[in-house]
Amino acid sequence: MSTTPFRRRRRSDPQHTAVLVVGAGFGGIGLGARLRQAHITDFTILERTEDLGGTWSRNTYPGAACDVPSNLYSYAFAPNPDWSRKYGTQPEILGYLRRVSDDFGVTPHIRLGTTVTAARFDEDARLWHVTTDRGEWTADVLVSAVGAFAEASIPDIEGLSTFTGPLMHTLHWDHDLDLTGKRVAVIGTGATAVQVIPELQQTAEQVVVFQRTAPWIVPRRDRRTSSFERRLYRRIPATQRASRAAWYAGIESFGLPGFVHTAFRHPFEALGRMQLRRQVADPELRARLAPDYMIGCKRAIFSDAYYPAMIQPNVDLVTDRIESVIPEGIVTASGTHAVDAIVLATGFTAMPMLASVVTGTDGRTIEDHYRERPQSFLGVANAGFPNMFTILGPFGAAGNQSAVVMIEAQITYIVDALTRIHRAGITRFELRRDEQEAFVEEMHARAGKGTWLRGGCSSYYTNGSGMNAGLFPGWSFEYRSRTRRWDAERYELARGRLARVDVAEEVSP
Ligand code: NAP
Repeated sequence: MSTTPFRRRRRSDPQHTAVLVVGAGFGGIGLGARLRQAHITDFTILERTEDLGGTWSRNTYPGAACDVPSNLYSYAFAPNPDWSRKYGTQPEILGYLRRVSDDFGVTPHIRLGTTVTAARFDEDARLWHVTTDRGEWTADVLVSAVGAFAEASIPDIEGLSTFTGPLMHTLHWDHDLDLTGKRVAVIGTGATAVQVIPELQQTAEQVVVFQRTAPWIVPRRDRRTSSFERRLYRRIPATQRASRAAWYAGIESFGLPGFVHTAFRHPFEALGRMQLRRQVADPELRARLAPDYMIGCKRAIFSDAYYPAMIQPNVDLVTDRIESVIPEGIVTASGTHAVDAIVLATGFTAMPMLASVVTGTDGRTIEDHYRERPQSFLGVANAGFPNMFTILGPFGAAGNQSAVVMIEAQITYIVDALTRIHRAGITRFELRRDEQEAFVEEMHARAGKGTWLRGGCSSYYTNGSGMNAGLFPGWSFEYRSRTRRWDAERYELARGRLARVDVAEEVSP
């Protein structure tokens, strides 16, 4: 295939690229690597931060790690026999992503420190006009790979801004701030808090944990990998693939309670109760740490370190509602909790920033559409947004599988699409609205039986009306089979000659 799959280019501005990818995390880097393997080299990846790695370069809070084993939380096309632990830590995962980016020739395609501020599709020229804080781009195809958890969610708590001590969200950890010997409040008990609290407990004078909803905690069993294991993976890669397959199957089984039927939750809940019973002896504390909803309603968290930290004398668990924040601490019904610093482990806004700046054919943004209701086809395409794909769009993530597995499936679909679009001389493609409607309806109909929707909690798995907010409620192997090939028949297609585009260098198609 040609290195310039989409159109002839000419010297001068604005900059043009055949495929413009936004975001250099697992999605963007993986897509770049697979595009290069498919000999599509005219692509550019814009990344708003000063480093590649997405979530793994930005989340640097103490204890940041993945709670999916690294043999599964890595690209199938780039196995790493050298993981030092069963679960990669943030620096090691970031190092892995940097290596993949270099080894597969993606790094030269990445433009760091470039924020997209607007994008609109030009019907006449059949291309995207993309405005960034570093100039204009045009692209035949736009791919959003910005991830689902890119923006910090700051809770709307009265008086939060009046707090006089340091206040930081886990996404913006200030490493110059020494919390040793300080009284530190942590608001939130999600997967991030569960990782950060055991670290803070070791150095802070007191950690005050504000829990609104108790999480389900299941055993993690982290350990260092042995040199024998690493040698084995290196010499006989099939053994690492077998480990990956075993973890794939184990994690996939969380779908049984998640979307098949709530009745399947009992063995998973037994695991969680066992962890709580074994690690927390005090019945009163145990009762306060016990979740009161079905497992899977919120993402269950793998941790061996959380409960042991929570039983330490320098950790207080506060379960009554936060009423306000005052200059010296946090006020709840039980009184004022004076603290020196507040850590917000309150998660992310579900809508990444890019959604508000990409405008579709009807003049409305992705955010406008999603606000009405989450919509997409397989999380990769949207009606009204021609020549565009998304990675991890609504219904493209699974609550029962490694995000990387889903991302790789989407990359397969996008690369197949781009290859075939070029071969067929297609210059405009747009998902058919009836296909999107049918798919979204299917996603709602299938999600209704399991704990994701009926587990008795509120979470980002559901929207305000209790409907599926964007998970794929099916097996990931079904999802992978549905994304193996680009299904052109679901799209409105147009062919035709394209105008030349002025760019840096001329390359013949
Ligand atoms: P999260 O799961 O959304 O949890 C946010 C926490 O903050 C919840 O406990 C929430 O309570 C609490 N909260 C929010 N607003 C509050 C308020 N106004 N007052 C009191 N509490 C409040 O966020 P996260 O833990 O950062 O995780 C985000 C995503 O990243 C998840 O998908 C998670 O699985 C993923 N993650 C993964 C890993 C990994 O190892 N794979 C590690 C970290 C994060 P409620 O539960 O009551 O809403």
